[in-house]
Amino acid sequence: MPRTNQDVIRIVKKWQAAGIVHELTCRIDSRHAPLMPIESLGKVVLACPTCGTAQEHIPEFVLDSEPSLDAMTQRLEAANQALARHAEITRTLWTYTAATLSLGLVAGLAFGPAASLIGVAVGTVIAYAANRNRTRAP
Ligand SMILES: [Zn+2]
Repeated sequence: MPRTNQDVIRIVKKWQAAGIVHELTCRIDSRHAPLMPIESLGKVVLACPTCGTAQEHIPEFVLDSEPSLDAMTQRLEAANQALARHAEITRTLWTYTAATLSLGLVAGLAFGPAASLIGVAVGTVIAYAANRNRTRAP
C-alpha cells in the first residue's frame, strides 16, 4: 500500500520526536530547530522552522523506521515504568524505616531502652502492613 502524505507526516514526526535517533536537521545549519514535515503543493517536504529552508528528500530509512520506532518506544515506556515503580518502592521503604526508627527513639526517650525495642517492633509491624500492598507486583 503506498504511503499517503498523512502517513509520511506521521512517520517523520515520530522520528523527530523519538529522542533515540538523530533528528533530521537543516542542511544550512544543523543547529537550527529540527525539521518539520509539512505538505507543500501536494508533496511532503521537510521545512526548517529556523530559516524557512525546505528540502524535498526524506531518507528512506526514516520512512521505513515506524515499526522499529514503535517497538523501541514501547520498550522504553516499560523500562521507565519499572524504574518509576522501583523509585516509589525505595521511597516508601525509606519513609517507613525512618518512621519506625523515630517511633523507637521516642519510645526509648519516654520510657527507657526496653520500650524503645517495643516501639521499633510496633513500628516494623505497622510499616510492613502499610507497605505490603504498595510493594506487591501489579
Ligand atoms: Zn535552517
